[in-house]
Amino acid sequence: ALTKQQVVDWLMRCGEVFTRQRDFLTRLDTEIGDADHGLNMNRGFNKVVEKLPSVADKDIGFILKNTGMTLLSSVGGASGPLFGTFFIRAAQAANAKQSLDLAELHQMMQEGVEGVVMRGKAEPGDKTMCDVWWPVVESLGQSAQQQLSVAEAMQRASERAEQAVESTITMQARKGRASYLGERSIGHQDPGATSVMLMIKTLAEVAG
Ligand code: ADP
Ligand code: MG
Ligand code: MG
Repeated sequence: ALTKQQVVDWLMRCGEVFTRQRDFLTRLDTEIGDADHGLNMNRGFNKVVEKLPSVADKDIGFILKNTGMTLLSSVGGASGPLFGTFFIRAAQAANAKQSLDLAELHQMMQEGVEGVVMRGKAEPGDKTMCDVWWPVVESLGQSAQQQLSVAEAMQRASERAEQAVESTITMQARKGRASYLGERSIGHQDPGATSVMLMIKTLAEVAG
């Protein structure tokens, strides 16, 4: 199972990852956006990490809800409300739990992503963060059916996420700022999708 402590560790490490990857993510957003995605994620997760000590003794739902509200109020742009919604909806699914088995982790991710889709209306192939979220959720569902461990499932989900983010390169953007570029958005990796991949990879490291 994924413990509450692992969830806390995950968010802490996301803070480090988005500090390290800030310039890379911003460079991706320079090519098809407004050059702020790395700055947005770095600012948001710095705030999340800052607030973690005050919520670390609460349940998983409380911690994730706090994360979502913090991202919502500090990230801005298109991605702030979307990542905020992901965590707030995931928090509702996780509820007052202190640990999640794989079926519960899958359910939590699925509901979080449903929130993102409800808000952003992305469809498959639109070159958005959802083009990584969906394969991750699908992979977790398959792993749950095979009764794999959370560690093994997250490892597989992380590999799927890395493939999925590469697949955004050849897509033409149909949502968000990148869509203004039309065909010129083809040939570039989506920044938000890259952030999802980094978050999933980090969760796999924590779970493994
Ligand atoms: P902004 O575009 O407002 O500057 P960011 O640069 O932080 O915001 O985030 C851009 C990312 O947001 C994109 O790379 C894409 O993955 C994601 N995104 C944009 N619009 C949508 C949407 N409607 N649904 C899902 N993801 C989206
Ligand atoms: Mg941007
Ligand atoms: Mg912006």
